[in-house]
Amino acid sequence: MSKGNTMKAIIIGAGIGGMSAAAALKQQGIECEIFEAVKEMKPVGAAISVWSNGVKCMNHLGMGSIMDNLGGPMHKMAYNEGISGATMTQFSLAPLVAEVGERPCPVSRADLQAQMIDWWGREKVHFGKRLEAVTQTDTSVTATFTDGSMVTGDFMIAADGAHSIAREYVLGHKVERRYAGYVNWNGLVEIDEAIAPADQWTMFVADGKRVSVMPIADNRFYFFFDVPLPLGLPQDRSTVKNDLTGYFQDWAQPVQTLINAIDPETTNRIEIHDVEPFKPLVKGRVALLGDAGHSTTPDIGQGGCAALEDAVVLGQCFAEEDSIELALAEYNDARVDRVKDLVLKARARCDVTHGYHPETTQAWYDELRSETGEGIMKGLSKTILGGPLG
Ligand code: FAD
Repeated sequence: MSKGNTMKAIIIGAGIGGMSAAAALKQQGIECEIFEAVKEMKPVGAAISVWSNGVKCMNHLGMGSIMDNLGGPMHKMAYNEGISGATMTQFSLAPLVAEVGERPCPVSRADLQAQMIDWWGREKVHFGKRLEAVTQTDTSVTATFTDGSMVTGDFMIAADGAHSIAREYVLGHKVERRYAGYVNWNGLVEIDEAIAPADQWTMFVADGKRVSVMPIADNRFYFFFDVPLPLGLPQDRSTVKNDLTGYFQDWAQPVQTLINAIDPETTNRIEIHDVEPFKPLVKGRVALLGDAGHSTTPDIGQGGCAALEDAVVLGQCFAEEDSIELALAEYNDARVDRVKDLVLKARARCDVTHGYHPETTQAWYDELRSETGEGIMKGLSKTILGGPLG
């Protein structure tokens, strides 16, 4: 089949994955129709760090200006001991940026989402269309939505997130999410240098807990608190400050200042999960992309970046192959190991950060005290350079 007007993709989900897939396919002259379940987008996290591999993908997809608009000035990185507040390590990220050839961009999630949709054309996205079922023939794919409507296209990119419906269709069975053992509270506050320097990603660590602030645009810190906790504890906005004060009661003054500054009404509480890596990511003319294909804990900040990488690779596969099945099979082969690696790397990092093996975590704290930045940046650069754009 030739491309251009004769090929039409159905994209499910207007998250980072769906929007970037549409951008990548558009570059190949493929018509895309995007269907999003919700009427109004409400991302689960306040912000994300788009690492240099993700920023390269945004540039490649023609959306680099969004990174310029939203990226915070994160020029340094530091770990502080949570209880005393003492600096364990502090270093410039300039050598990392020089090595990988691009900066990282911490960005507001809601702003990123909104700007990606506006870049595409909000009026062209079909909101309020929740995928319920998928069928395919040798030449087409049909999506059925919960409102009873249907749409048929030549192929489907299912970017319907961590709870993907399409995943079950592709694999032929349901996949359970795995609780990663900790709760994450996140949100945005105005930058206050009593908490941390305005141009630095600062983390406070102790007892398997973590507090982080990262600068995003418009003088705001993206903050998060991680606490290892059982699944299913009651959630109540009215107790957020008390809960955090309790979990961090002996911690250093900057952490107390941060807890005081947060707005419980806009603070998210998330029980962190991932999904055991699986394959394939593709069944005939239906491909999983983003969290639908690889749901990870946020411990290395790569879930959204991986979705952007998926999209770039998808575009590359259609640039090389005219046959839909071959292009999607090539996409599967190019992505399956990379995304497995990222999910497992994040899981391993999660276990160390959150004290699941206390001696390993203590050894990491000890290592941080003699870290010059070289070791941490080596790890970051390996992850970044493993992406499709190097
Ligand atoms: P989603 O963003 O979940 O989007 C899926 C879309 O599909 C949604 O809009 C949803 O409404 C829609 N949808 C769902 N079901 C259906 C259906 N049946 N029919 C139609 N539409 C449907 N990543 C990073 O790169 N860096 C970070 O620093 C980072 N930090 C994170 C911190 C936290 C606390 C969390 C939870 C995640 C973090 N991530 C980070 C991961 C990142 O948020 C995700 O990997 C990314 O949002 C995945 O994008 P997606 O489009 O695949 O899925």
